[in-house]
Amino acid sequence: MATAHERLDDVKTQVAQAVDRLADDLERLSHRIHANPELCFKEEKAAAWLTEFLERQGALVERGVGGLPTAFRATIPGRGPGATIAIMAEYDALPNIGHACGHNVIATAGTGAGAAIAAALKTLPFDGRIQVIGTPAEEGGAGKVKLMEAGVFEDVDAAMMIHGRCGTQVWRPTLGIIKVTCEFFGKAAHASSWPWRGVNALNAMIQLFVSLDQMRQQIRPEARVHGVITKGGEQANIIPEHTASEFYLRAPTKEYCKELLRRFEACAEGAATATGCTAKVNADPIIHDPMKPNFTMAALFEKNLERIDFPVDPDDGEAGYGSTDCGNVSQAIPTIHPYIRISPDGIPGHSRDFAEWAKSPMARTGMVAAAKALAMTALDLVARPAEIRKAKEEFARTEG
Ligand SMILES: [Zn+2]
Ligand SMILES: [Zn+2]
Repeated sequence: MATAHERLDDVKTQVAQAVDRLADDLERLSHRIHANPELCFKEEKAAAWLTEFLERQGALVERGVGGLPTAFRATIPGRGPGATIAIMAEYDALPNIGHACGHNVIATAGTGAGAAIAAALKTLPFDGRIQVIGTPAEEGGAGKVKLMEAGVFEDVDAAMMIHGRCGTQVWRPTLGIIKVTCEFFGKAAHASSWPWRGVNALNAMIQLFVSLDQMRQQIRPEARVHGVITKGGEQANIIPEHTASEFYLRAPTKEYCKELLRRFEACAEGAATATGCTAKVNADPIIHDPMKPNFTMAALFEKNLERIDFPVDPDDGEAGYGSTDCGNVSQAIPTIHPYIRISPDGIPGHSRDFAEWAKSPMARTGMVAAAKALAMTALDLVARPAEIRKAKEEFARTEG
């Protein structure tokens, strides 16, 4: 009779083989999502295609979970009560630049992992269950926070996902974010015949950007403040009476994000005073948390990459850090968010170049490896209760 260890090993091999069998279909699905970029909360096609795929392989699919029409949950049940392990999938795109964050690869790696487990095993030969949770609106909608608030992660013991990148790193920090909008209100007047009767809300906006540029000299090097003007005025012959902008204030800790917000508000007030306008600053109540590491789970993931001979790259230190709503999940339960190579070194995320790489043969290789490693790591956690215990102990003693 096989030992528990041999049985897990055997199950992992079967699931990895199932990923290989599904790889062509998964790549087609990835390209289809890539060719049909859908913005946050509007990922109807992607959600439909991914859930169909999971259902066809035998997973139990629930659509529209947590009150979000484009969210889903696909479950592969086990023998009996035990840990619930979630593999997360994102599938939203960016405005104008499409899948420049490669969420088509996240979608098919996560879905591929669950689909392969369902196809190979039907039900898990262990206690507990594995779920694929389809999480909409990572780019700007904080979909995972909404799903958590709706209780979708309530019974989940540990969660994981991958993100495409120009290198494979099992752990990289992410920054917290406070999203803020700023509007200025002035007074319209003819820009040529009565300029002295106008109050220029665009001048206030320009002043805000200048003040923030100066503030940037005195903030911590890891922090980021960046924004766009969403309304700059109506027409050149009218003194702008209303302007609007949005900013992300990012830092490695929530506390420093809040400090940035205090300083941002002072800059906005200063710009309003200087120009005679009034300022309205509105901070989004949803704060993106930085990722809390879980090295227990990261080590399992890395071992599984090793098992399939997929190399991990040293972090070249050439890039700063991004942010993710996965950070909020990581502050609630043990979570990992490893990066998988889908492009050559040095290709920035959110670029048109990266969007091209997200449908390349390299993206396929990364997606297949990630699907295997996600599936095998989820299996490790359901099959070995000591590992999930260890992950939870680490979670409890790690500070945000
Ligand atoms: Zn992104
Ligand atoms: Zn992304």
